[in-house]
Amino acid sequence: MASLLETRGLTAFYGDFQAIFGIDIDLDAGDTIAVIGANGAGKSTLMRSIAGVIANRSDMVLHRGEAIGAMPAFDVVRRGIALVPEGRKLFASLTVEENLQVGSYGCKRSGPWSLQSVYALFPILKERRGNPATALSGGQQQMVAIGRALMSNPEILLCDELSLGLAPVVIKDIYAAFSRIRASGMAIVVVEQDIAQVLKVADRVYCMMEGRITLTGRPADLDPAKIHAAYFGAD
Ligand code: ATP
Repeated sequence: MASLLETRGLTAFYGDFQAIFGIDIDLDAGDTIAVIGANGAGKSTLMRSIAGVIANRSDMVLHRGEAIGAMPAFDVVRRGIALVPEGRKLFASLTVEENLQVGSYGCKRSGPWSLQSVYALFPILKERRGNPATALSGGQQQMVAIGRALMSNPEILLCDELSLGLAPVVIKDIYAAFSRIRASGMAIVVVEQDIAQVLKVADRVYCMMEGRITLTGRPADLDPAKIHAAYFGAD
């Protein structure tokens, strides 16, 4: 049976520059996979290629066995694949609530996620719902970015660098919410530079270096020294 989501020989370019080379990943329903690697390894490019932000060949990304690689991003969202982008990319001129509503705009998928359930997950956002999104702290902005993606009621959530630049106490809150989202049965691809954090939540890990997957496995089966070598290229 086909995986929920797979990439097969996925490549991506910025002009003439090739950022990723022949990436194969598999995500099954309800699973969390983590993509780790140093700056510039190609993690964001992989996420953006799956989300349809970067164009690629149709047969390189398959959702339930159907080729979706050439679909524009809004069609990918309609199919139930939502991206929490690196750097959050909130709409500066919109309030918290308006930013959340953008997530469900034009997407008629039904499911458990609504303003109400996002506010239940992140109560602080309800308090701040009338504020401009950019007036929030970094952690709260990350909550808005996650909430906005959830508002499309995805079956697959792509999270790019959830903890980047956030204080440890905030990271704890974000990952507590992440665990609740995961427990709801959502399939998740999470990109992280914080290896210790993702090893705790991932069913399987892919390590990337210079645009290629250098190591994959279940966290319990991966030797830390091998992860280090696959991540940094060190011996
Ligand atoms: P980071 O954690 O720094 O975001 P990453 O693993 O997500 O790293 P990518 O952002 O996917 O890596 O970058 C992969 C390669 O593609 C890098 O060499 C980067 O310089 C290059 N790259 C990324 N975005 C662009 C762009 N818009 N135009 C040109 N090159 C880019």
